[in-house]
Amino acid sequence: MIIDMKPEVQLDTNYYKVEDIKNLSEHTFVLSLPKSRFEFVAGQHISLSISGDYQSREYSIYSAEKGENLQVLVKEVEGGYFSPKLKHLKVGDMVEIHGPFGKFGLDEKRKDSHKHVFIASGTGIAPFHSIVESYLGLDYHLIHGVRYVEEGYDREEYADERFTLCTSRDKNGDFNGRVTDYLKITEFDKDTCFYLCGNSDMIFDSMEILSDKGFGRENVNVEVYF
Ligand SMILES: Cc1cc2nc3c(=O)[nH]c(=O)nc-3n(C[C@H](O)[C@H](O)[C@H](O)COP(=O)(O)OP(=O)(O)OC[C@H]3O[C@@H](n4cnc5c(N)ncnc54)[C@H](O)[C@@H]3O)c2cc1C
Repeated sequence: MIIDMKPEVQLDTNYYKVEDIKNLSEHTFVLSLPKSRFEFVAGQHISLSISGDYQSREYSIYSAEKGENLQVLVKEVEGGYFSPKLKHLKVGDMVEIHGPFGKFGLDEKRKDSHKHVFIASGTGIAPFHSIVESYLGLDYHLIHGVRYVEEGYDREEYADERFTLCTSRDKNGDFNGRVTDYLKITEFDKDTCFYLCGNSDMIFDSMEILSDKGFGRENVNVEVYF
């Protein structure tokens, strides 16, 4: 008996052609693909692989829920297996996508009653970019921790008064120091919902600081990248 697996249907659904690559810094870029063929909620991530390679990695969706293109923000990690391969992609190359996955995103129960503070390190800003672009008019404050000002990816897309760039090795940021130093000296409204995304050290240290300030786990949402 011949079983028709229709592999071409699978290919059509999950394969996307790279439409554009926008470099934001020497090692960081936005990969633009055609409009997603699936619905997603801002904050979710996808699993990405390259044709002919058996490995895949997760990437937060950078673009808006109803965006014209599906986008991800990628940092080429020195010595990494997958991200340097993404850096070598060219317009017209194919990538394979699965998803969306994850529950990171605006807390529906607290969406209208609480202030939203987004705390990101490095490319951890990606889900917040998607949220801000998806929910225009949202009352938020985005705190982005990087080493140098050039790593304030697409900062001009956020309202100045809603964005604080914390630069740990550069005096030209809005705050000279780590995100955690900024959190320690900042007062937050009692009704604030925190969203943290990025590396685990930043997330765990921030959670401890927020806990010392009286914010329980129910008001803190996290997405750990590595
Ligand atoms: C839910 C989720 C969402 C993610 N979203 C994004 C995203 O939007 N953009 C993005 O660039 N990455 C994102 N990542 C990280 C991404 O999946 C890969 O881990 C990253 O691209 C490195 O893969 P690699 O194969 O090059 O490195 P690997 O060979 O897998 O690992 C090499 C080393 O690099 C470390 N590492 C991983 N990420 C970083 C980083 N950003 N900076 C420094 N060191 C790192 C790893 O811990 C490991 O020690 C996300 C991870 C998760 C779990």
